[in-house]
Amino acid sequence: MDTKRKYITKKRFWAGTLLAQFLLFFIASKIGPALEFFAQFFDFQKGIHQKIFAVVSYSVGDAVYILLGIALIILLIGIVNKNTRNSSLLKLLVLLNILYFAYQIFWGMLYFQEPIIDKLPENEITLEETEVLTIKYLDLSRKARLSVEEDNKGVFKLNNITHVQTEILSRQERLPAFLEPTKPSNINSFKPSLFRGVMSYSGILGYYNPFTAEAQYNPELPATYLPFTLAHESAHQMGYAREQEANFIAFLLGKESTNPELRYSTYYFVLKSLLNSLAEKNPHFVRQVISNYSPGMKRDRAAEKKFVQDHAGIIENFFGITNDLFLKSNRQDGSITYSYFVDLMVRFERNPRSTP
Ligand SMILES: [Zn+2]
Repeated sequence: MDTKRKYITKKRFWAGTLLAQFLLFFIASKIGPALEFFAQFFDFQKGIHQKIFAVVSYSVGDAVYILLGIALIILLIGIVNKNTRNSSLLKLLVLLNILYFAYQIFWGMLYFQEPIIDKLPENEITLEETEVLTIKYLDLSRKARLSVEEDNKGVFKLNNITHVQTEILSRQERLPAFLEPTKPSNINSFKPSLFRGVMSYSGILGYYNPFTAEAQYNPELPATYLPFTLAHESAHQMGYAREQEANFIAFLLGKESTNPELRYSTYYFVLKSLLNSLAEKNPHFVRQVISNYSPGMKRDRAAEKKFVQDHAGIIENFFGITNDLFLKSNRQDGSITYSYFVDLMVRFERNPRSTP
């Protein structure tokens, strides 16, 4: 009886602590100096984490997730069993407290930083300027496509992924000043995901691990996706948490790159995003632009479609997601609208040199 009471007291304590955490982080998310502190803490933390985990060639974060999954299953079995229910429930509560705390201080609070859109000129975006930009990025893509290598089927082939990674890291130092970018760590902590097979079927291209500051990517992706995905994940490593803002940073990292593979992947992503944003408003224009893809780009597009088709069945059956990658850029957020990225990009493109 005594031990039972002890468990009840302890469980109450940890449940209360979790609630207190929710409340405290919620309040902190409304306070400017607190957010400033978390941004600085992130810089400090990622430097240490990347230094430690970059030494290991595989994804330590993925290994941590696997161990956590196993621990969770063991605890759930323990909770079902009457004899171990109390102690398992207590352990689960402690684990949740630790994970939630670590997640918030390492990453979660970054979602409350000032949005990039507030640092760019306002004004409505017109259909016309979006179309002009689309033509510009069609041309840029066609040109960039000429300087990348092809496999024996004539599809864009990534020649050296390490070069792309090094280039992304060096580009991080040159982000425009109005973004007040954080200090890049200059540590290569890109890791091929241990869950690559699952990723191909889920449409996930990459993900950032908040606990280890590693950037995971799916090495099985078509080459058109890979360099831009790496740049996107590297933006997360710099502390840009929001998905579409990470795309915007990746766009800045890639657009003037001297690495043709990164440049082509970036232009092609921008082109697809623009076309996607126009798909409903001007489908005729979209079809016309696609018909003007260079032969190489058409082969790349077919390869992307094939990749999606080959991996679509299971996901569609499981989640009812239609994976028509006709235009969808197929980022982590899947079918969510891309307009925030297009918004950022179009506004930036209005006056890229003197922005804002
Ligand atoms: Zn992301």
